[in-house]
Order: sequence, then C-alpha cells, then structure tokens
Amino acid sequence: MSEKKPHATSTEAVHGGTAGERPHHTLAPSIAQTATYTFENTATLERYMRGEDPDPEREEYGRYGNPTVRELERRVAVLEGAEDGLAFSSGMAAITTAVLSLVKTGDHVVLFNDCYRRTRQLVTLVLTRFGVEHSVVPPGDLGALEAALRPNTRLVLSESPTNPFLYCVDLERLTAIVKQHGRAKTLVDSTFATPVNCRPLEMGVDLVVHSATKYLAGHNDVLCGVIVGASHLVSLLRDARGVLGSVLDPHAAFLCIRGLKTLGLRVERQNATALAVATALEKHPAVERAYYPFLESHPSYAVARAQMAGGGGVVSFVVRGGREAASRVVDACRIAKIAPSLGGVETLIDQPAIMSYFELEPEALARIGIDPGLVRLSVGVEETADIVADLLGALS
Ligand SMILES: *Cc1c(COP(=O)(O)O)cnc(C)c1O
Repeated sequence: MSEKKPHATSTEAVHGGTAGERPHHTLAPSIAQTATYTFENTATLERYMRGEDPDPEREEYGRYGNPTVRELERRVAVLEGAEDGLAFSSGMAAITTAVLSLVKTGDHVVLFNDCYRRTRQLVTLVLTRFGVEHSVVPPGDLGALEAALRPNTRLVLSESPTNPFLYCVDLERLTAIVKQHGRAKTLVDSTFATPVNCRPLEMGVDLVVHSATKYLAGHNDVLCGVIVGASHLVSLLRDARGVLGSVLDPHAAFLCIRGLKTLGLRVERQNATALAVATALEKHPAVERAYYPFLESHPSYAVARAQMAGGGGVVSFVVRGGREAASRVVDACRIAKIAPSLGGVETLIDQPAIMSYFELEPEALARIGIDPGLVRLSVGVEETADIVADLLGALS
C-alpha cells in the first residue's frame, strides 16, 4: 500500500485563504471587534439590501458575518479543498446548526455508534423530540449502514477516525452507498483526522465539520467549530447560523487563525509521536490492548493506510486490572495532564469510564464497549521520547 503524502500542506496552512494586501499593510489579520457595520447613506443601505453592493466584503451585522471570522472560514476551506466554509462558536454549535438545517420532522438520520457523545445525544435526545427518527450502526460496518438507509433518510453522520476507538471509515465506499440509495447528505466529523491527514470532500462527502477547538486551533485555549463544503450547502448553513445565533467571536477567530498556521508542523509531529507511543504501549505487558489506526492490529488498519497520511495524535489503550489500575497509570503521568479535549500542544490524558461516561453503570459501559480500564491519550508537541517515557514510567 502506498504511503500517503500530507493532504493539506504547511504552505497552505500559513498562507491559504488570504488575499491581497491588508489594511495598513499588516501581515497578521486584524481583529474586527465590532457588533455591527455602518452604511454611508440610505442609498448604500438599499443597494446592499438588494444584493447590489459593489463591495463583496461588506457585512451588515455581526451575527451574519465578520471579516476576521471570514478569513478563518476561507483558510479552512483551502485546507480541506472546499468551495466555502463557515465558523461557529464551538464544534457542537457547528454540528447542531448543520443537523437542524438538513433534517425536518418525518426524516431519518443514520449515525455510527462510536461517535462524539454530544452528537449522539443531539440525534437520540433532541431530534427525537421533533419527530426525526434515527438508526445507529457500528462504524466499520458499511453493510449495516446500507441496511439502515430508508427512503426518508436525509442525513448520514459519521466520524473518521472515531472516538475513542479510532475506527477509520472507508469514506469512498460510504459516499458511494449513500448516493446509490437516494438523496441523503453525508456529514463527516473530521476533527480527529485534520485536513493534513485526510480530506473527506475528495472522497465524495458533502460536508466536513471540525471541532476546531482541537487540532485546527491547536492550543487548548479557544472553542471553535468549522464546516466546509460546496457553496450552496454552506450558504444554507450560513442562513441557519444567522437564525440560530451560533456565531464565533472575532477574537476567537484570530486565535484560531494563529493556531492554523502551525497545523502542518503540529500534526506531523503528533502523528509520529502517537505512532511511537502506540507501538510501545502495544508491546507493554501491563497493556491489554492498544488502539491506533496505524497499528497493524487495528481493525481498520487497511482503510486508514489507504485514506490517511498519518494516524493522528490520539491513542487509546486498555490497562490490565480495570478501573483502579488505569487510574493509577493516569495519576502517575507527569507530562500528560488529566483533562478532556485533545489535539492541542499539551499532551492530555483521560479515562472515559470516569469522565465522559461517568454516569454509566458498569453494565451500560460494557454494552457500549467502554472498558473501565480504557485510557485515551492525546499527544501534544512535547519531545516524542519524553512522552513515551512518561507513559512507560506510569505503567511501571
Ligand atoms: C470535541 C469534539 C466535538 C465538540 O466540539 P466542541 O468544540 O467541544 O463543541 C465534536 N466532535 C468531536 C469528534 C470532538 O472531539
């Protein structure tokens, strides 16, 4: 199988989506800290309202657009090879706005069972209240996906790699199956992949969403969501954002742009470190099982190799001895900090059974396949050898 080159390049990460000279010839973008925009006179206003303004960059009000946010949207669109993009106040704001724009009462949604817990709750708890049905299928099982599709299926929601087991879904096959069966749109949460490792739009996916809080912003200091895709779909979501109010603050957009510039550097380092960590963990006697897309033992290894340039920065593993043994390992780490979230420059560690899934009884955990000894590690950009040593030290 051929080694994939990075999809989005570092040159694109630094320069992509910026156009021409900036006001005052600044190199960095300005933070357009404004809630609204002025019109010189009523004639200008009327021309704008009719859609005849000669300035395509003019904005009307902060909930509909902001130049700093716009730059972020264009930059992510370039990295994903998309026509257009749209930024939101968080990853969940992006997902909620997209899902609410694409389905209505009587429709049906398909999603994978190994997915971000709040996305699953949006579909299973919120959409249900509005008469939208759903089916949940295992991520690797495209046969189950095909069987779940109905004439009223309007949306197929997937992640790749998934959380926390890092299954990579064959996106070309997924989109082919969905297209063959009617008019459902595919929305792929590519937060764990980043456009450096995978570009789902090139595989026929309709819309890609990111929790930019994670890799795109990359510094664990800002919440942000971004969606990219074809202009007509993005424009539909832009109208919905104006109604739902899920807008990104311009200062947060600035921080996200600043983070994006080093995306290529960070992800390449994180790919290498995570593979080194996963390889070391897999061989360790205190580890029952390690999950990483680029480990040959991972069930979706072949798919990962075929569609990803790197395995990403998250490694999940099961510590022998269950919940207490895993907690001892987590507590013994010095570099890895205990925190939810992932994708930033700091290495973070999390024990899903006592964090994301804390309210579930052991039987319920077993039903969804979360081992009490499961640990999820998001590697940062510290030295690879230091992170590996931190984990091996904690395990002994
Ligand atoms: C964190 C995360 C989200 C939610 O993003 P927020 O920015 O925290 O709202 C959605 N999907 C995935 C895969 C995530 O990791």
